[in-house]
Amino acid sequence: MRQPLVAGNWKMYKTVAEARQLVSELVPGLQAIGGVEKVLCPPFTDLMAVAALLEGSGIGLGAQNLHWEAQGAFTGEISPAMVAEVCKYVIIGHSERRQYFAETDTTVNRKVKAALAQGLTPIVCVGETLAEYEAGRTAEVVSRQIKLGLADLEISEASAGSLVVAYEPVWAIGTGKAATSAGANAVMTDVIRPGLTELFGAAVAQSVRILYGGSVKPDNAKEYFNQSDIDGALVGGASLKAGDFIAITKAAAH
Ligand code: PEP
Repeated sequence: MRQPLVAGNWKMYKTVAEARQLVSELVPGLQAIGGVEKVLCPPFTDLMAVAALLEGSGIGLGAQNLHWEAQGAFTGEISPAMVAEVCKYVIIGHSERRQYFAETDTTVNRKVKAALAQGLTPIVCVGETLAEYEAGRTAEVVSRQIKLGLADLEISEASAGSLVVAYEPVWAIGTGKAATSAGANAVMTDVIRPGLTELFGAAVAQSVRILYGGSVKPDNAKEYFNQSDIDGALVGGASLKAGDFIAITKAAAH
């Protein structure tokens, strides 16, 4: 049984004061929901303050990025050990990082390896652009991202829970144009799990959680969570509103 996971990607929103306010609204509602792993991924500058507020809450904390090197002259970057001091999770290869910061399957792979070596649970994002979708290239693109992004990892059945994949069609992120639940599920069943099977074997592939991301809202969340291969959601915009994020998390608790 794969435990559902709902993660909020705050992107570049919320000052420390705003983050404290949002977390104080989120914690009671999220704590009341059982059977779902919950994760908040605020900007780096909020992490320490949010970590203090989440202590003992059972709600996990994640970063939105890391560098693969252990340390060095990499101005503006954050190392895996720095992230692991405060977080258990890290989002890797979000489409906004691929699109605006030139991240590739190769850098994603380096980051995933570095995160796992540090004991972090990477939430690895894959997904096709609108042009790729319209050209019927979804399977080709997503299977390449899985194959290269997750190459040369050692994942056993026991550690499969520490690898999370998020399928986020780029055309559905922040656009209000969500993928259909059946369409998203088909990508997971026909492309992502077979890709994971090729890399790690069938048992691991069945244990890795796959989240859907892209305009998930309280009114469509249940549809996704009812699908056989969708194990939760990576939520952007709606994770910035306490009521919406709590409602989405509740929908995952079935
Ligand atoms: C995201 O940023 O990962 C995301 C899915 O955004 P949104 O929910 O706003 O589409």
